[in-house]
Amino acid sequence: MKIVHDMHTHTTYSHGKNTIAEMVEQGRKIGLKAITISDHGRSHPLFGVKKENFAKMRAEIDALNQKYDDIDIYLSVESNITGADGSIDIGDEEKKHCDWISAGYHYGYIPASIKDIFVFAIPNYAARVLPFLRKRVVGMNTRTYIKMMERYKIKLITHPGDKMPINIEPVAKAAAKHGVILEINPRHDHLNVDEIKVAMKYPVDFAINSDAHSTAALGDMKSTPQTIKAAGIPISRIINIAE
Ligand SMILES: [Zn+2]
Ligand SMILES: [Zn+2]
Repeated sequence: MKIVHDMHTHTTYSHGKNTIAEMVEQGRKIGLKAITISDHGRSHPLFGVKKENFAKMRAEIDALNQKYDDIDIYLSVESNITGADGSIDIGDEEKKHCDWISAGYHYGYIPASIKDIFVFAIPNYAARVLPFLRKRVVGMNTRTYIKMMERYKIKLITHPGDKMPINIEPVAKAAAKHGVILEINPRHDHLNVDEIKVAMKYPVDFAINSDAHSTAALGDMKSTPQTIKAAGIPISRIINIAE
């Protein structure tokens, strides 16, 4: 089992170790048919792509697509979910230059509003160690994911529910409705086996991506083949892998 199109990879434009060209070269070496460069969204003060760099990234990718005919290279961004109302950090540059948008929850982003600091960012951070808070944030977070899918044209949700606990059932239902792919990510704990079992009751697509931050990790599925086996999900439901 291998990844055919690695849809989630990072480069030096955020906090990856390798350049776009090096990642693409490695992708060719390991036989990927396609690779998507998806560095972090702009609202992360340490990792976010500076908005003026999207045009530069687009030009680099266009040149590489001209140069190689054995791999397709796409530009995306792993935008940050920044507000309880489903806000994500994309602006005109991302919309103009990216082939498609993915979104995920991370720590350390700048929340969409002052209110979101107190009702969204801090409670999600504190919920890691306070079980009573965890219950409270699940309802809010589930609504956040659904609102995000209603508001934005997103192709993929990266590590759904990671660092931001959710009720997977309504999220999977909404993802199926909006045609959003749910990611199975080898570097994160979610989606886990139980969540995949629930999500697969709905006609939603899944993808396994390496989330590589260096050439060494590109295409690396780690333990995800065991995860999907344990969940009993047919390979045909995972859009970017081959036997
Ligand atoms: Zn991520
Ligand atoms: Zn990532």
